Amino acid sequence: MNKTYDYIIIGTGLAGLQLALAFSKDEYFQNKKIALLDKSSKTENDKTWCFWEQGKGNWERLIYKSWSAGEVITSSKHIEFQLEPYQYKMVRSIDFYNYALAEIEKNPNLQFIHEEVTYTEEKESSVTIKTSESYYEAAQVFDSRIPKGYFSEKEKYINIYQHFKGWMIETEEPVFNPDQFTMMDYRLKWKDTTSFTYILPLSTTKAFVEYTFFTPFTTEEKVYDEKLKEYIENYLNLKNYKVTETEMGTIPMTNFPFQNYHSQRITKIGTAGGWVKASTGYSFKHTEKKIKKLIRNIKQNQLPHQGLLNSKFQYYDKVFLKVLEKENEKGEWIFEKFYERNSIQEVFQYLDEETKISQDLKIMGSLFSSAFVKAFFRSL
Ligand SMILES: Cc1cc2nc3c(=O)[nH]c(=O)nc-3n(C[C@H](O)[C@H](O)[C@H](O)COP(=O)(O)OP(=O)(O)OC[C@H]3O[C@@H](n4cnc5c(N)ncnc54)[C@H](O)[C@@H]3O)c2cc1C
Repeated sequence: MNKTYDYIIIGTGLAGLQLALAFSKDEYFQNKKIALLDKSSKTENDKTWCFWEQGKGNWERLIYKSWSAGEVITSSKHIEFQLEPYQYKMVRSIDFYNYALAEIEKNPNLQFIHEEVTYTEEKESSVTIKTSESYYEAAQVFDSRIPKGYFSEKEKYINIYQHFKGWMIETEEPVFNPDQFTMMDYRLKWKDTTSFTYILPLSTTKAFVEYTFFTPFTTEEKVYDEKLKEYIENYLNLKNYKVTETEMGTIPMTNFPFQNYHSQRITKIGTAGGWVKASTGYSFKHTEKKIKKLIRNIKQNQLPHQGLLNSKFQYYDKVFLKVLEKENEKGEWIFEKFYERNSIQEVFQYLDEETKISQDLKIMGSLFSSAFVKAFFRSL
């Protein structure tokens, strides 16, 4: 017999665990039986998540480091910013997984099951889920698996990949300024592409240095290694350092219509639901906001996915992706103008999708160029 639940969450990554935590903290769901299925036991520190927010948020106990100042460096400009009232905050994924799984264990209504989902079938009143070990049934499923259509239909859409490798480096001498992080340093590019270095200084002797691309293609691992080495030696001027951890990843930056893959009983969540902002690859805070809305929808007897994505900002993101697709070499110029001509507070508000049309127009005006005008019309 199938094991039956009210809700099943497939995938206990960022979105699945944030959703499970939200269910566990809300009285409304105290009588719901909820299962979480994941093929991974979530015991590795596989991601360094950063996000910005004002004041104290929901993740204070997990913040590993935060910054009140940042910088963007291009070949001709050095733009420094004070983030107040925002802070840029970093969470290590292992701390998040450990915290969330411990909270889930405390709650008898929630059960974590370490199994891989191989198949789902939606029927009129429930969804059947087959895993490597068993069968399950639930009235509503929240699914973090990327839809198959993303792989088979992706040529029809714009596909930029945010791909990167980071090294945690440690030095004997104090060399870093732990009070200021580097959002982007464009001085060392890979050919004529949108490629830059991102630095999170954790102390005077320890920093996370990541070489990142926003390109229509990915690359071999040795390319990141060469660029990291070159940057550390020639721009940080370090000869003696040791690499203590590494991180590699690819985040899709795309206008693929993830929203078309929801159904009556299956809600796609996380990257699979289009919750990664297409123009930035950030999703930590977006996930929190989407979950708040999704919970409200459930309580109001609406479809969980209703109104989660904002078509105005999806259009702006598409225009930006079009520029990167057609004229990838323009990235340095775009980000220089973006950060130089707008305050960091306006930038964050815009990327948080909280700006009004008048503010959007100001931001777009700051990027005015033939590349954007062409992309604007090509994206209609
Ligand atoms: C290395 C890296 C660094 C990032 N840094 C940032 C950052 O600084 N800030 C930010 O906002 N965003 C960042 N992102 C983007 C985004 O926040 C993350 O990708 C985030 O983890 C996406 O959440 P998710 O829940 O969709 O996917 P994931 O966290 O990847 O979770 C998906 C889960 O589904 C499980 N799963 C998949 N298939 C199955 C199956 N068949 N059966 C059972 N389980 C399955 C996986 O095991 C996994 O646990 C980063 C991404 C990467 C890759």
